[in-house]
This record gives sequence, C-alpha cells and structure tokens, in this order.
Amino acid sequence: MTFPSNVDSMLNNSWFRYSRSLSSGTFSFPLPGVLCLLTVLWLLMPSAAFAQVFSSETISDSVFARMSGRSYGEGCTVPLSELRYLRVAHYDAEGNVCQGELVCNKAIAQKLLAIFKQLYQARYPIERVRLIDDYNGDDERSMSDNNTSCFNFRPIAGSSRLSNHSLGLAIDINPLYNPCVRRRSDGSSKVQPAAGRRYASRKGTWPYKLEKGDLCHRLFVSHGFTWGGSWRSVKDYQHFEYRP
Ligand SMILES: [Zn+2]
Repeated sequence: MTFPSNVDSMLNNSWFRYSRSLSSGTFSFPLPGVLCLLTVLWLLMPSAAFAQVFSSETISDSVFARMSGRSYGEGCTVPLSELRYLRVAHYDAEGNVCQGELVCNKAIAQKLLAIFKQLYQARYPIERVRLIDDYNGDDERSMSDNNTSCFNFRPIAGSSRLSNHSLGLAIDINPLYNPCVRRRSDGSSKVQPAAGRRYASRKGTWPYKLEKGDLCHRLFVSHGFTWGGSWRSVKDYQHFEYRP
C-alpha cells in the first residue's frame, strides 16, 4: 500500500514517526527523552528564576560608578568591601512583579534576602526598590517617590551624627506612606518626606501602610531589626535598623 505524498510527509513528522514506531515495537525517535528533559527543565524553572531575582554580590565597578559622588560621596568611611549589592523581586499594590535593587551592609545582606523572599511569596506590596543614586542621593526625593532604600552615607537629618543608613544597616520601606514624624514641643511636627504629611497620623488604612504586627514588621523584628515606629522621641514608620 502506498500513501499519497502529503500523507507520507505527514507521517515523516516526528510525532507521527514516534506513534508509528511505538506500534511497530521500535523506539527510534527519542521522544520520551525529550519529554523527560522538558519536564525537568519545567521543574527547575521556578527555582532558577528565583535565584535570578534574589541575589547578593560585592559592589561591581558599574554599580560603584552609580554610587560614587552620590550615596558614596567623598569622605565616605565605609569600605566598599563591607557593602553588598542586592537584587530582590517584589510586588506592588497592583499585583505587578517588579525587580528591585539596593545596597546594604554585608552584615544584613542574607537577612534582607530572606525577608524580601518571604514578602515576595506573600505578595506584600512594596512600590519601588531603586538605588538612591537614581535620585542623586537625595533622600527627600527618594522618599517622596515612595522608594525603598538602604545605604546612603549621610548624617541624620538636622544633626552631624551619621545615621545607620550610612553603614547600610538601616532600610526605609514604602517611605511616602510611612513617614518619619518628629513632634516639637510647641505641638507642631516635622514630617519626612514632606509629601507624606497626610500619612503622619496613623489612623485609617491605605495602600503601603506599614503597621506593627503586619508581615513586614514581624519579619524584620524576627531577624533582629528594631522598628522606628516604636521609638518614643521620633516615630520613623518606614525605618528598620540592625545593630550587630
Ligand atoms: Zn531610615
């Protein structure tokens, strides 16, 4: 029996050849192997993707070029070898997956990776995680853009003391919606960022609000961080810091 040429060519297609060889008892086409390989690749894919978006590296020349003169200005006393460049994935409040990056002290690099992985898995919303150098090292601009950031060699606002951000040991989460509030004796207050004044009162709910007992707070505290929202003299709702 002969097949019309179009049917014959169809049978030469690999799927049909495999079907035909099965019925004839021969396994000339390695389809099972290919399927096995595809299955293994599919199983490996989530962990491979995970490793790609959560990473810790030393500061490369290209990252330092971004930091130099900004977060790492002249007179910075922190050796570059003390710092790490992290890549972290996160969700925003709309459910979009975003790729973030930050620079921190190596003492908290693995802690931050562990925390951000759990926040990601729980879809805890974080709007933006960019290097503060993208804002020319300007903390007010970064906070006003609701940017989560960590290392920035700078004095505490309004003083000459270095903040824990200078050592890369403090991180500000969703800062626009969780501002730093200093009450003055005359009853007025200084709010940073200024654009976050409407969120200085913690009554009510809104996207990106950080609260005592929520997942973000619990994770940082469980990894040994203190929360600025629990301080007495100043309420820094965005701020977590670690003291080795
Ligand atoms: Zn802070």
